Amino acid sequence: MAFELPSRLSPSKMSTFKDCALSFRFSAIDHLPEPPSAPAMRGSLVHAALEQLYALPAPERTLPAALSCLAAAADTFCELPEYAELGLDDEEGQAFLDEAERLVRNALILEDPTTIHPIGIELRLEVEVEGLRLIGIIDRLELDADGRLVVTDYKTGRAPSEKFEQGRLGGVHFYSLLCEELFGQRPAKVQLLHLAEPVTITSYPTDQSTRGLRRKVGALWQAVELACEREDFRPKPGPLCSWCSFQDHCPAQGGVLPAPPSIIPVERPALVAAS
Ligand code: SF4
Repeated sequence: MAFELPSRLSPSKMSTFKDCALSFRFSAIDHLPEPPSAPAMRGSLVHAALEQLYALPAPERTLPAALSCLAAAADTFCELPEYAELGLDDEEGQAFLDEAERLVRNALILEDPTTIHPIGIELRLEVEVEGLRLIGIIDRLELDADGRLVVTDYKTGRAPSEKFEQGRLGGVHFYSLLCEELFGQRPAKVQLLHLAEPVTITSYPTDQSTRGLRRKVGALWQAVELACEREDFRPKPGPLCSWCSFQDHCPAQGGVLPAPPSIIPVERPALVAAS
């Protein structure tokens, strides 16, 4: 008897499993709902505004255009039930929008959108690597001046300290691997645009980094398989618990563990993951 394996693996789920296996179970296996949060919704709003901006012809991607895109996206967001669930009063709602505007303005400080040559925005890629289905949504895939691929990911939270920079690049290296598998071309560069500071963190995928990532993905998947087989997803209390949506279900926080989801026999090989 065992938990059902997730069907696909994404960078965010990899990161969740590494941070706390129990949180991974709640999210990827139990599929427990997560209430909306203001930072996550603001991040989605900024992504939506930049997505609209990069849909415009290059010469039209000006700051006024970016702010118009943000206003249009905000009109839509403010009608969403998830936004209403945040329960923001007028002042908090204005602060929410002001911060989104600051992030969009910072995006244009970091780079000039009229010089970017995007070939995919919010691009969903899915590929099977050594029997494991990997999935990722790339904020922006573009070509540099030499026609080489560049992966760009926007971050609306705080940038990591130098010590943790490499760890935070795991997601964009994962996207690089997807590109290499699907397009037969390794991106020349991957970058995180941290809009809050603003600062750009850049890395250059190599044979070594790609091999290392493949190994990590394989090892992590084996750990997920084992946890499913043994029904053993342990809590890992730490600073991230403050932001965890599953505290009410977490024994480490005095919560009550939900009953296991569907119990099914494990079939091997069945290397498939969850987004
Ligand atoms: S509250 Fe902490 S230990 Fe519990 S599931 Fe969430 S992250 Fe893991």
